[in-house]
Amino acid sequence: MEATVVKNAGSHYLLSPLPEWKVFPAVLRGKIRLKASEITNPIAVGDRVSYSMEDDTAVITEILPRRNYVIRRSTNLSRQAHIIAANVDMAYIVVSLYFPEVKLPFLDRILVTCELYGIPATIVLSKTDLYREPAAEEIDHFRSIYEKAGYPIIEISVKTGEGIDSIRKACQGRVNLFSGESGVGKSSLIKALDPSLNPKIGTISAAHLQGKHTTSLYEMYPLASGGFVIDSPGIRGFGLVDVEKEEIARYFPEMLKAAEGCRFTPCTHTHEPGCAVKAAVEEGLIAPERYNSYLGMLEEDKKFR
Ligand code: GDP
Ligand code: ZN
Repeated sequence: MEATVVKNAGSHYLLSPLPEWKVFPAVLRGKIRLKASEITNPIAVGDRVSYSMEDDTAVITEILPRRNYVIRRSTNLSRQAHIIAANVDMAYIVVSLYFPEVKLPFLDRILVTCELYGIPATIVLSKTDLYREPAAEEIDHFRSIYEKAGYPIIEISVKTGEGIDSIRKACQGRVNLFSGESGVGKSSLIKALDPSLNPKIGTISAAHLQGKHTTSLYEMYPLASGGFVIDSPGIRGFGLVDVEKEEIARYFPEMLKAAEGCRFTPCTHTHEPGCAVKAAVEEGLIAPERYNSYLGMLEEDKKFR
């Protein structure tokens, strides 16, 4: 029999036969081999597992292959990492233009991480009621940067209700990861999607994330309107440790496409003659902000190696 892990409860797991929400406990007996020794948790929320019944107890026997997963390192230099979530259908990255102001290199780093792990991303522009009028041009500019990159952008406000329905619809039939810097309105959004999640969501503080047992804090919740939610405050700490410098541009979808026209391969898209990525930036097909984030990542990469 198969089911999906909806919570790591420390000594046991909670499973549900998704898409049906019928939670039951299960244990992991014996050893399931860890692929990489530095992963601290063998099973993550979202993992599809096989189990068998032994004396009324569900025993997990196998983890089925993951379509994708989100991994988090305790610190940038740490070798220890744990899997936050597996088999995610969509990552919603919540940002606000103001209160707090989004830092584009920070957002781009998260988007690169999503590309790296094969998770489609949607950008949620929150709290639009606070700045729609005075910042109309900034909103348009923000949209143009990320539309060129191919990311869907949904503008929302929990005050006016704008955009909530479209996210609710998009969540149906999917496992959805919600991520965002503290204060952007992520918990407010999840509560707006389903008020019954009110007491449960948003209780994981950043301070907790420094602790060791953080994996048990991640949990999947069903939305009354359909689909499932995983609240993930930890996305901020994602490092690009696994990415080779030459590879970074591949995780900018608009650069990956343009790079087909570069004269040299590999091309770092910095100084090479006949670089199609630089040409695309000059023609306005790739936003300079995105290109600058890319250059910043290359620089940072140098510092760490
Ligand atoms: P989180 O840390 O990302 O979970 O953010 P919260 O959901 O706790 O929201 C942070 C603050 O922003 C709270 O004071 C919310 O009331 C406020 N907030 C959240 N969404 C909106 C919104 O759409 N409009 C306005 N005006 N305030 C919002
Ligand atoms: Zn190039």
